[in-house]
Amino acid sequence: MAAREKARHGPRAGADLPTGLRTSRRRWLIVLVVVIAVVGGGSVAFQHARSLARGTRPQSVLLITMDTTRADYLGCFGRTTAQTPNIDRLAREGTVFTRCTASAPLTLPSHASILTGVYPYVHGARENGTGRLAGSNETLAETLKAAGFATQATIASFVLNQQFGIGQGFDVYHDVPRPAVGSPLSAERRGDEVCDDALAMLRSLAGQRFLLWVHFYDPHFPYVSERVKDELSPLAYADEIAFMDTQIGHLLSALRELHLERDTLVIAVADHGEGLNDHDEWEHGCFLYETTLHTPLIFRCPGVIPAGKTVSAQVRTIDIAPTVLELLHRPAWDQAQGVSLTGLFTGQKPDPDLAAYSETFLAQAEYGLSQLRSLTAGGWKFVWAPKPELYRLPSDPGEARNLVAEEPQHAADMLVQLRQLIADAPPPAAKDEASAVLTDTDQALLESLGYVSRPGLQDEGLTELDQFEPRGGNPRDYARSFKLITRELPQLRQQREYKRAEQLLRQLMESMPDAAHLPAHLAEVLDAQGRTDEAAQMFEHAIALAPKGYVSRMKYGTFLRRINRPADALAQFTVVLENWPNNTDALSQMALALTSLGHFDVAKEKMRRALELEPKNVRLLRAMGVICEDTGKLTDAIRYLNEALALDPTFQECEKDRDRVIQKLGW
Ligand SMILES: [Zn+2]
Repeated sequence: MAAREKARHGPRAGADLPTGLRTSRRRWLIVLVVVIAVVGGGSVAFQHARSLARGTRPQSVLLITMDTTRADYLGCFGRTTAQTPNIDRLAREGTVFTRCTASAPLTLPSHASILTGVYPYVHGARENGTGRLAGSNETLAETLKAAGFATQATIASFVLNQQFGIGQGFDVYHDVPRPAVGSPLSAERRGDEVCDDALAMLRSLAGQRFLLWVHFYDPHFPYVSERVKDELSPLAYADEIAFMDTQIGHLLSALRELHLERDTLVIAVADHGEGLNDHDEWEHGCFLYETTLHTPLIFRCPGVIPAGKTVSAQVRTIDIAPTVLELLHRPAWDQAQGVSLTGLFTGQKPDPDLAAYSETFLAQAEYGLSQLRSLTAGGWKFVWAPKPELYRLPSDPGEARNLVAEEPQHAADMLVQLRQLIADAPPPAAKDEASAVLTDTDQALLESLGYVSRPGLQDEGLTELDQFEPRGGNPRDYARSFKLITRELPQLRQQREYKRAEQLLRQLMESMPDAAHLPAHLAEVLDAQGRTDEAAQMFEHAIALAPKGYVSRMKYGTFLRRINRPADALAQFTVVLENWPNNTDALSQMALALTSLGHFDVAKEKMRRALELEPKNVRLLRAMGVICEDTGKLTDAIRYLNEALALDPTFQECEKDRDRVIQKLGW
């Protein structure tokens, strides 16, 4: 992958703050030193216990989520070479939880758990890109908004965009613009841009009670560093964390300068960690090891949260929202699986002996292998896999020795506990309404084109316990294959080494015969070699393996549209929309297929629906412009094309479209 242009790790501290703020920072520093001198001493914990009991509460909440941040890459977690002074200072001024576990090693599911206080099998957003946090979930933002808080968020990865439901409850939500070309799933905003945005939000929020969520994505692959050119190097990864730390420093300085520090509860947490080649995993998602599940968690609020305290009890990211609610003196949620951790701040309550659940369905969705679930409790970790794993974390933090054979009773007990956790869970959140996508007219039109909805594609209505047992290959046995797929294959395709890519894919398909993604990849490689018929057959094979597979159907539909089979393409997009009713890519592709078939009005209606969901999507705006052009509405066409170009002036194809329409208009 090509490295992004980043000028990082240069001096920048305080550079964009007004002079007045910089001066007042110094004044506050003096006050702070005096306060520390007066308060300092042995009775700090007692005073905090008293202030919690007396009713001191934070006015506002700043939630900082650090994507892909491994706990052991921070100074406050013992890394001596870490360049994380700002996170470390936050840790010194607050309470650090040294044993916090994420609910999933994936961005959307994990963030959804942070904001809802429930596990992914309850909130339902279980995958990036195709998953969605249903509106029936109650989020921290919704609860605080209802309580009169101003709620704002600025996020840095496309997978957390509003269209995935995670923005519910926020008055203002700044997400990641969809790029004109390339996969939107890898679209991100740099930390300094997010930070500037957050600083502006913070200034606008001063004087109100607020929840501000700031999401940093820099440590996510690809790692960009000025001093380390190897994009897979852990050093480059550490530089990304250092860059993020600098941004967090700006944010915390601004909090102080705006006199918000005393009354604002600051929480810093990671959504998951990163493999960095431990356990043969580069990034995160397919496994449930501590490298990706152990997350740093810090709470700070002067006078409310004890400073310099370390809590080693097992906690979970689902405990964050319930803790915030209690600290703000708001009623607890009935539906939460997480619990408030306030007893651990004061030390008044004993270790609640919590058990942490985690899951991943990524290897199942992409490679037809088994899902994984884990339970971490009392220093033990049990992974429910086709070949179960058991680790004793205090003596084996690297999870090198599987103790299942030596401790069969312990493994069996944890399996019972894991099953019970799911059996006792609250009912899963209701899915969003799937109506409004396929109207009766659509159905009639589709039937006239020979498309018949297949009943096998409806939801099977399986409960979580029905899917409890591991099924299929053990992801751990395929670690090397995952590396070939995520590293070797994209390189071969980028270098147009199609023969070698084909060879590699056929080998991988032999070892992973149920992986629907592989034949879809191969179909594209065959298509690139001009072998259209073979490509079509391979797409059919991919779809037979996973009839609900989003990626295969979208790729196949797009291919069919290109080879001039719009009716067949339409059938593919229809299935996608039956399963993902709010998918704007499927809506716009469907509209383009309908245009080719001459059904302009229905096409425009689909496009309008897509634009309602994503008004700033430049690809949608361009497609709408082209449909308007095709139907002779040239001034409408210009309006949409101009709108796309205003959002992305570098969108060349769109510019060509506009020039052509301008010529037609004779301007
Ligand atoms: Zn993430």
